Amino acid sequence: MQHSIASVCLSGDLRQKIEAAAAAGFEGIEIFENDLLLFDQSPNVVRQIAQDNGIDIIALQPFRDFEAMPAAKRQKNFDRAQRKFDLMDTLGTDTLLICSNVSPFAIDNFSRAVDDFSTLANMAQTRQFKVGYEALAWGRYVKDYQQAWELVKQVDHDHLGVILDSFHIFARGRDLSTIKEIPGNKITLIQIADAPWLDMDVLQWSRHFRCFPGQGDFPLVEFMQTVMQTGYQGYVSHEIFNDEFRSAPTLKTAIDGKRSLVWLQDQVRKVTPDLAANRQLEAAPPLPDADVQRVEFIEFAAAGEQQEQLVTLLTALGFKKTHQHRSKDVSLYKNDDVCLLINEEPDSFAQNHFLMRGLSVCATAFLTSDSAAISERAAHLGYPRFETHVENGELNIPALQGLGNELVYFVDKLDNGKRFYDVDFMPVGDTTPTSPFNIQVDHLASSIAESEFLSASLFYKIVFGLDIHQPHDLIDPYGLIVSRTATSKDKQIRLPFNMSRAGSASSERFRQIQQGSGVQHIALHCDDILTFVENVDPSILLPIPANYYDDLEARFSLDEDFAAQLRQYNLLYDQNETGHFIHFYTRAINGVFFEVVQRHQYGNYGEANAHVRMAAQARCDMPMSKRS
Ligand code: MG
Ligand code: MG
Repeated sequence: MQHSIASVCLSGDLRQKIEAAAAAGFEGIEIFENDLLLFDQSPNVVRQIAQDNGIDIIALQPFRDFEAMPAAKRQKNFDRAQRKFDLMDTLGTDTLLICSNVSPFAIDNFSRAVDDFSTLANMAQTRQFKVGYEALAWGRYVKDYQQAWELVKQVDHDHLGVILDSFHIFARGRDLSTIKEIPGNKITLIQIADAPWLDMDVLQWSRHFRCFPGQGDFPLVEFMQTVMQTGYQGYVSHEIFNDEFRSAPTLKTAIDGKRSLVWLQDQVRKVTPDLAANRQLEAAPPLPDADVQRVEFIEFAAAGEQQEQLVTLLTALGFKKTHQHRSKDVSLYKNDDVCLLINEEPDSFAQNHFLMRGLSVCATAFLTSDSAAISERAAHLGYPRFETHVENGELNIPALQGLGNELVYFVDKLDNGKRFYDVDFMPVGDTTPTSPFNIQVDHLASSIAESEFLSASLFYKIVFGLDIHQPHDLIDPYGLIVSRTATSKDKQIRLPFNMSRAGSASSERFRQIQQGSGVQHIALHCDDILTFVENVDPSILLPIPANYYDDLEARFSLDEDFAAQLRQYNLLYDQNETGHFIHFYTRAINGVFFEVVQRHQYGNYGEANAHVRMAAQARCDMPMSKRS
């Protein structure tokens, strides 16, 4: 499978786009004509830039409002096409992409359209060019790929083929059966885009919400499998219009685009039994598989007063220092199975993290079925391994750069029930502090920038193999927050990630305090939160206003004693069709806070209370003057 990207997917000017596409490993690029119009260099220079970067210009696009026009406009369109052919000559590309006519002047006349394309295909033949025809879902008369294919079939010309764009196909329905009838050599180009399923105007959906494969909900594996069965051997090319990509760094988006195609190809390979029949898939090496099972530890960068505050907070939550690293200034605090590290090692990654951000989560570690495999998988997907310094006899744990600039470690299950600290750490004091509460990590929530949001979905999906759930809105008193969650199948891993466009909303305040994205809160699960909270120093709790409890009692007609307990201990409560949820939050240290939760047949995150929490945090964080 040769990989291409349309220049419209990327931010920046045409030179930046071509350079980024080539650097990300794409073999081809489609030139979106608007990008050329806005560029201050000649088409000759564009050709040279592509050549210098070793990337092919695979097509010029789009040529609009061509077929079935009234006589007066018809000749003009052929003249216009001739000029585009001249431009293609200069650019060094042989393919022109035409999308179905959306003009109010277009005529509903199929045979006229066939005549027009016959003439155009002859013109293209004289110049050794190809023309591809694509149905836009909002075309005036041609709206779906079946109609476009019917037209191409009627014209029956070697220099005219059909373009299959997954967005337009899925936006109009899910019927892929006609694709099976199309011979591979009649497909000019496969354009690929994913998107979330949304019930909205198709044009707006297309212009703002397309995304890379793996970032949306479309059944693209099935789409590509069907395409592969036609014998198609050409490029698979991203065509994505997306607001986040428009504001994201060019190269970062291009690299995500490449990753998404490598991942998609691997997914298609897995469900394609007869690989030998498909040279494109056979050539691609399979990606190693491994499961990510649960959070193994969370590591803080801390020093000085903030380190002391963190230890006070952890102690209040029942954590005890149990181990000390053999060669580094790293302490392990445990409560039941939950392991939290505090890293104060000089000249380390953690110390740099602390100097940049203050107290912060500098790493998270996940237990995996095979850490080497997952690290290799990540490397194949363009997430390079982060090398850390390891002394003799210590575990060499593979690491990647995660969201923000924290590290993600992949830890193997050790023999005899041992854990990482049995190798790398020395016990100090009681090494197995147990509580009657069965404390576990429930979820880790990160705040990230808007431009990182889709990238985060892709990372968790294609490296971790997590399910990515539909985004939903949280109402912060100072702006809207959009939240998505990545979970493992058995829900042992739950990773919400949030973003906001509002500078004063909770997630953006966190990013300002920390000067970047990262883990904002750590939620622990506890089997008996009502007893647990009785033993917690009340000064660490995030205070919840009385009005909340008045409403809560009215909404859920709660038992009086239970309601009084909630009120006394600043506990929040939610219930849904299946169960209920009790939780509390701690005050934040440098923007980072803990949550303790108890789930009863409840799969959500207390989203109904998020606005109460965020308003309470805003009162703690923000001076009155800033809140007006
Ligand atoms: Mg398209
Ligand atoms: Mg939470």
